[in-house]
Amino acid sequence: MVTQAPAKDTEEVRRLKETVVTASRILDNEGIYDYVGHVSARTPGAQQMFITPHLRELSFREVTPRDVVTVDFKGNKVAGGLRPPQEIWIHICIYRARPDVNCVVHIHPEYCVAMGVAEEPILPYYVTGNVFIKGVPLFKEPDLILTEALGERLVKTLGDYAAVNMKWHGVSVVGSSIEEACIATIKLEQAARIQALSMAIANGRPIQPLPPTSNTITPEFIHSTAGWKYYLSRL
Ligand SMILES: [Zn+2]
Repeated sequence: MVTQAPAKDTEEVRRLKETVVTASRILDNEGIYDYVGHVSARTPGAQQMFITPHLRELSFREVTPRDVVTVDFKGNKVAGGLRPPQEIWIHICIYRARPDVNCVVHIHPEYCVAMGVAEEPILPYYVTGNVFIKGVPLFKEPDLILTEALGERLVKTLGDYAAVNMKWHGVSVVGSSIEEACIATIKLEQAARIQALSMAIANGRPIQPLPPTSNTITPEFIHSTAGWKYYLSRL
């Protein structure tokens, strides 16, 4: 049921839809997206979001900005020919609760999932992991986020963190921009991979995460245009 008019096709809207698709391509190129991930962006000035479509009817390489679906914050599709992904409530509930968030990435990366299954907190053991210096909370419900109630509970666990790890499932990462959330997602999986390797090599000996006071690569640099340009250049 359509409850709101779709956003006008402005330059900003076109850029956001294009960047949503680019972010999904970057994440796929880094091996962590596949056909069950999704990326969304908040629609400026509306209770709506732009989200990559469900890939049931279209193969990943065929997706263009025109295929990006618009969904309102009640869960209704407002525009777009394809269906949205199943877990729209992840995105909707985060946007409703976090006005600072303009992009949500939901994917199922292997090392993050392994950390979640082991109930091992993901901590920065590598310089670029320090974008998650506050930590990454763990959500322990096994089901896909197919209802508003589950979405609300996920958001409760996310709180004001930049990401939530979802046991047996995946991660949801947020950012003030699409570029920020995309880079943070790559850095989160990288952090989990390095942590898993470090723990395996240490073989039971305690390992120490990056001290919060260390003089290291700043989150500002990690989220500067350098990161986005780098991953873009690898496509
Ligand atoms: Zn999922």
